[in-house]
Amino acid sequence: MPGFPEIKSKHSLVAKHVTEELWNKLGDHKTATSGFTLGKAIACAVEFDDQHCGIYAGDADSYNDFAEVFDPIIQEYHGITADSTHTSDMDFTKIQGNIDDDVPVKSTRIRVGRSIEGFGLSPGITKEQRLEVENLMKNAFGKLEGDLAGDYFPLLGMEEDVRQKLVDDHFLFVSGDKNLIAAGMERDWPEGRGIFHNAEKTFLVWVNEEDQLRIISMQEGGDVKGVFERLARGINAVQDSVKGESGKDFLLSDKYGFLHSCPTNLGTGMRASVHVDLPGWTKEGLPALKARCEELQVQPRGTRGESGGQTGVTYDISNKHRLGYSEVELVQKMIDGVNTLWKEDKALQAKHGL
Ligand code: ADP
Ligand code: MG
Repeated sequence: MPGFPEIKSKHSLVAKHVTEELWNKLGDHKTATSGFTLGKAIACAVEFDDQHCGIYAGDADSYNDFAEVFDPIIQEYHGITADSTHTSDMDFTKIQGNIDDDVPVKSTRIRVGRSIEGFGLSPGITKEQRLEVENLMKNAFGKLEGDLAGDYFPLLGMEEDVRQKLVDDHFLFVSGDKNLIAAGMERDWPEGRGIFHNAEKTFLVWVNEEDQLRIISMQEGGDVKGVFERLARGINAVQDSVKGESGKDFLLSDKYGFLHSCPTNLGTGMRASVHVDLPGWTKEGLPALKARCEELQVQPRGTRGESGGQTGVTYDISNKHRLGYSEVELVQKMIDGVNTLWKEDKALQAKHGL
């Protein structure tokens, strides 16, 4: 057994919950699906000093085999109890209202993560499994119909100008995130990764990035309800197609909802965001905006992706929670939060003489 590692992220959930006693008990274990270990799971917390959570699952087995580590971390992160269960609800007709007409929203995007039974999750997935997932998806995408129909573009062999344009237009993921690298998610890059999109680029699926699948609905403007409707339809179509091709279902747990590589995404795995201009809040300052977002249960990010930084007065505002609330509730919180932030922004603009 490797010795108990020094965990550099001293204030992380990993540092709190991965005790030497648990390490001695679980440190030697290898999971059945992808041979994942506790050492691989906590690599980010060991290597870096800035992790809040610091752990990833390498397959569905990880959540069971290392439950003594994962369960308390998940409970503490998501604020749930040991006996809580997760319920999904994608009924878009339950959404009340929409983003108000006067809010300067540039675009709306809602994504979920999904994983297919029998294959490892990105930190643990073997090279062979990754290619199997890609091949399965190539066939599954071919069955999508109507406005969801489109083409799959593998990253391997993609022309650089095509790739850069997809990134600049906010459609495609990039490599180089230090956490994903340390967690083992960029092994064999770019093989086995790619992007599917319909002709309008309003329905997209990322293959083998942080999750096996990220299913995405997006469009210009602030019609969150419309984007949610297309997403719900798209998820069902992909699910049916995967099942038809392989007989396999998405990984789903009563307790933790849809399984993802990052425990922070468990539950809905959903992030519903808008890109919105907030000049008043920008003048007031980022710490104030962050604190207000916390109260409204939304999260501000820069517009270039989680690790990409912020530009000007535009923010990515999305639901903060993933687990313990249904998709409908989280989309509603985002809509209400953005409408509130804009009302306050107008007052802040006046206060700062903008
Ligand atoms: P996630 O990993 O949750 O899907 P990231 O923060 O990594 O999201 O962003 C992924 C990509 O999606 C980035 O290119 C980002 O600019 C883009 N994106 C996120 N929200 C929106 C939005 N509302 N409109 C346009 N692009 C968006
Ligand atoms: Mg991301």
